[in-house]
Amino acid sequence: MFTDPISISILIVTALTAVIAVIFALKLKTRAAEAVTAMKTAQLEAEEACNTLDSARIHGCIDRTRRRQVEAVFDVLRDAVIVVDAHGEVLHANEGASGLLSIAPSEAAGKLLVDVVVDYQLVATIADARSGLPKEGRQYEQEIKNDGETVAYEVHLQSVGHKDESMHAVVTVLRDLSREREIARLKSDFVSKASHELRTPLSSISAYIEMLEDGDAQDEATRKEFYGVISTETQRLRRMIDNLLNISRIEAGLMHIDRKQVKFQELIARAVTNMTPQAKEKSLEIHSQLADVDLSVIGDGDMLYQVIINLLSNAIKYTPDGGRITVAADTDNLTRSLHFSVSDTGLGIAPDQTEKVFDKFYRVENYRYVAQGTGLGLNLCRHIVETLHSGQIGVESTLGMGSKFWFSIPAERGQRKAA
Ligand code: ATP
Ligand code: MG
Repeated sequence: MFTDPISISILIVTALTAVIAVIFALKLKTRAAEAVTAMKTAQLEAEEACNTLDSARIHGCIDRTRRRQVEAVFDVLRDAVIVVDAHGEVLHANEGASGLLSIAPSEAAGKLLVDVVVDYQLVATIADARSGLPKEGRQYEQEIKNDGETVAYEVHLQSVGHKDESMHAVVTVLRDLSREREIARLKSDFVSKASHELRTPLSSISAYIEMLEDGDAQDEATRKEFYGVISTETQRLRRMIDNLLNISRIEAGLMHIDRKQVKFQELIARAVTNMTPQAKEKSLEIHSQLADVDLSVIGDGDMLYQVIINLLSNAIKYTPDGGRITVAADTDNLTRSLHFSVSDTGLGIAPDQTEKVFDKFYRVENYRYVAQGTGLGLNLCRHIVETLHSGQIGVESTLGMGSKFWFSIPAERGQRKAA
């Protein structure tokens, strides 16, 4: 066996080498395993990092989409919307806010609120909301400058943020109240005018009834006279109520109109025949100048008849005895419309009143004693012509010389005969 020292040494060296080799191999294996684990960890970390990155990107994308959606909602609103962040920088301003800003709303994002909002009171209001963080949204009315004019707004403020933070983002929505206020003013104007006008015939009726009760009418002739006044005032009251109801129905879009082919010549002829006795009482002549064409229109015959009667009755009322009234009708091929007018040689209307005569209850002050009326006739005519028949009504007049009231409405297609 290996008894000599050289053999023993060789054996020991070989064994040691084997042990070292085994140890080395084992170490290598451990290192390799460690390396694999480390690699796996790194891979996992990398994957996680990738995922985080992706989700950040996705979230960023979702945020941008959501933001664009919210901005699109703001942009379709007619109200003004201004969104500022906690630092007072504008995040978004919609088109409705254009009058409130010194620059275009699309350019406001990223600018300081104080640099773009014109009204300093509004800047202060939003600044208060940024530092105040009310739990509920705040809402109040404020006069704010818009395009150089002072406009009443209803301001809604909503802070967005955590209650522990000192400054917050704020969404401000501003609703223009001018139209609502104008409607409220017109309503109350109308109610006071209507009650005043209704009270006038009512007072007269009750006064005459009282006189009859008190025996103030001693003889039959006086009694007849009193009954006559009561009857006239009652008719006036009824006409006023009818006109008011018709106007309100048209304004509310509730008036049913019977659209048919209307032979306009026939309407004119009927109206002239009916008004001739009244004209004769004042020795007024009524002339007709109707073009020799087909004057048919599609519309509501009864309503159009009312317009003709109203214009003729005005011409008779406001033309002194012995005057002349001319009724004319023709069609206009260019605008495809029927044109009708009533001209008189009467009192005429001053230039500053020609538009007002179409207002509800408007009566020329000096003519109140010339003839009775409710001041609603022309307003109803305007509604019938313009709202119900898509036409136009107007007047040309010279004070002291006479007036020409006219209207035009779309005519039936291809109706004009060869002249
Ligand atoms: P009603 O409601 O009974 O018709 P009205 O004739 O007073 O009453 P409108 O027909 O609306 O009311 O006319 C308004 C006002 O316009 C009249 O009160 C009158 O002052 C003026 N006006 C109308 N037509 C003429 C005219 N042809 N010439 C002069 N003034 C006119
Ligand atoms: Mg009238």
